Formats: sequence, C-alpha cells, structure tokens
Amino acid sequence: MRLIFLGPPGAGKGTQAQILRERFGAKQISTGDILRENRSNGTELGKLAENYMRGGVLVPDEVIVKMIEAELQQLQGGFIMDGFPRTVAQAQAFDALLHAQQTPLDAVVLFNADRDTLFTRLTARWTNPRTGRSYNTVTNPPRVPGIDDEDGSPLVQREDDKPETVRKRLDVYERQTAPLVEYYRASGKLVEVDALACVDDVTRELIRKVDALVHTAR
Ligand code: AMP
Repeated sequence: MRLIFLGPPGAGKGTQAQILRERFGAKQISTGDILRENRSNGTELGKLAENYMRGGVLVPDEVIVKMIEAELQQLQGGFIMDGFPRTVAQAQAFDALLHAQQTPLDAVVLFNADRDTLFTRLTARWTNPRTGRSYNTVTNPPRVPGIDDEDGSPLVQREDDKPETVRKRLDVYERQTAPLVEYYRASGKLVEVDALACVDDVTRELIRKVDALVHTAR
C-alpha cells in the first residue's frame, strides 16, 4: 500500500501512521523524524535543516526531495508518507519519482482539523525521543506524567512546539501545504478523515475510506 498522510501539524498523522503501518504492510516515512535524527547525529543534512526547523519554516524542496529519493531506493514494499510532500513542487517531484518506478499512489488521506484545536494540541504534545511516540497532556496523557507508557523513557517537548513556533508552522501549512488538497483531489485519490475524533475512530474511518477507494480502483 502506498499512502500519503496530508494535514496540518498536530493533526495526528504520525500517531495513525504508527498504528497503521502493520495493517497496511507499509513503512512509515516521516520527513520530520528523519531530519530530527540527522540533527541529533550532527550530520551535514541535520546542520543544514536545523535553522529552518527551529524557525518553524520548511527545509528547501531540493534537500527534501533528495532525502525522499534515497528513502525510496532502500524501500521494499509500501509506504506511508507522514509530513511529505509539503509543497506543490515536492508533490510534483514525488509524482515523477513514483511514475519512473511505476509505483502509483493508492490514496492520500487528508486529516481535517481546525487551527485552534491544533494550537492547543501541539503546545500540549510530549514525545518519546527514542521511538517518536507522542502524547497529549490534555487529550491523551501518559499514565505517569512525563514517562512513556511503553518503554518508560522520559518524554520531552519538541522545541518547535513552543507557542510562537506553532503559530508559524500553522501559517506555513496554510500557505504552502494546503494547496496540495486540491492538487490531490484532482487526482481522485483523496479521502478525508475527521482528525479531531478519538484515535480509534480516526483509525476506523481511515481504514474504511482507504479500503473503499482501493476497491473501487481495482
Ligand atoms: P514535522 O515533524 O513533520 O512537523 O516537521 C518538523 C519540521 O521539519 C518542519 O517544521 C520543517 O522545518 C521540517 N520538515 C519536515 N518535513 C518537511 C518537508 N516535507 N518539507 C520541508 N520541510 C520539512
């Protein structure tokens, strides 16, 4: 299965990708996680991306496209793109890569959520830096505050989840990424989910709609 999860920051794309990667037999490819890993390993890519990420703005398209190209080369089987593409230029470059490989997309899932809720969610988000699993201190708190339920690691707040940066990231989404909704709607592969429902309901709606789309396409 080849899927793109599209939606504003904080809409739960990463959470659903983690839940669904086994169900869809697909690798989760999160460009944000790859960049953060490069940043903590001090690679050239990490150094290059650092300032953009800290400011809540997008890393240049050519850097991201090169990164995705490398991921696709290593990939066997399907993928769930989480946080990519984020601009029309990235989407066009991705289409060209998939076309060259003759591996068309199955569906693009749009996570719908309003800005005020996202703002609250993001500023309450705590993550396990080791696994990427995230919690929300309001809607989905860990059993013990500050500790991951699964492996007991201390949870941290991302630097770019501070209020000023969150505002900026939401602006960047509206300006640069939201145009992708019409781009993918035109391809007939867009399905929409209510990202504000509880995690299990989002999973169910997503599976139902992706399955329906894939069955009609066959
Ligand atoms: P995320 O974890 O997806 O919210 O991404 C964190 C930050 O990484 C973003 O604010 C951007 O600076 C950068 N980033 C992640 N994915 C992309 C992308 N597809 N294009 C450009 N920048 C990205």
